[in-house]
Amino acid sequence: MSDMNDDFKVCCEYCDSYVDAGENEVCPNCGGSLREAIIREETKRRLEKIDEEEKQRKILQEEREAKDRDDIFDLIKSVAGSAAGGAIAGGLARAAGEFLKEDLKGAFKKK
Ligand SMILES: [Zn+2]
Repeated sequence: MSDMNDDFKVCCEYCDSYVDAGENEVCPNCGGSLREAIIREETKRRLEKIDEEEKQRKILQEEREAKDRDDIFDLIKSVAGSAAGGAIAGGLARAAGEFLKEDLKGAFKKK
């Protein structure tokens, strides 16, 4: 139990009281073992943490993808209406790809 923190409370499965499991693995109220409750609580917290990280990662990725799409779309749209728009659009889409790549490289270098 190395990652146990100060406010690690669990619900005793024998007397249903909410007890601090930071000191020992025995319920201070009824003397029952808290081991199962501790394992359950730790598993729950771990899963919640993974859930939260996964959610954050998805949100960031979606925002990034939406922005990339918008940038390229705007660029293509801005020339699509012009006389040579169709021919240029393809080249611009490729250029936009290169530009985004350079942009990413630059972003990494800055850090
Ligand atoms: Zn108890």
